[in-house]
Amino acid sequence: MKMAVGGCFCGKVRVEYNGQPLTTALCHCLDCRKLTGALYTYNFVVKTAELNITGSPKAVPKTSDSGNDIKNYFCPDCGTPLYGHKIKPNGEAEEVTIVRAGIFDDTEILDEGRPAVEIYTESRLKWLSPVEGAGQFIGMLSVPSLDDA
Ligand SMILES: [Zn+2]
Ligand SMILES: [Zn+2]
Repeated sequence: MKMAVGGCFCGKVRVEYNGQPLTTALCHCLDCRKLTGALYTYNFVVKTAELNITGSPKAVPKTSDSGNDIKNYFCPDCGTPLYGHKIKPNGEAEEVTIVRAGIFDDTEILDEGRPAVEIYTESRLKWLSPVEGAGQFIGMLSVPSLDDA
């Protein structure tokens, strides 16, 4: 995949990712719904170290149902949900970050980046169909980083 470049609605926060996503996941969990206002999220799971952020996203901390400290980041001006990750006990970000794929400017990246998995499928709305070819998981994927996707 070429470099993925994206940003928020107002343009003050820009996000670049230069690498291959570790995985791509549609998430139907209730937290994702609240934090985006959409009925599910589409996420690229990337290495935190390969993510380059311009601007000053606002971090919103929360303790997830599974007891993890997580932070989700939004544009402080327009509110676009940008990305999120777990926070380690020492306060540092986890090695992987969940980026909201809808922020990317290049739709080719999204066309090519079909979902590898769908998670929290029990919360999927009744009128939505599973994505053909995507692995289906009732809860979280057994990748530590996906617990709070
Ligand atoms: Zn913005
Ligand atoms: Zn979710």
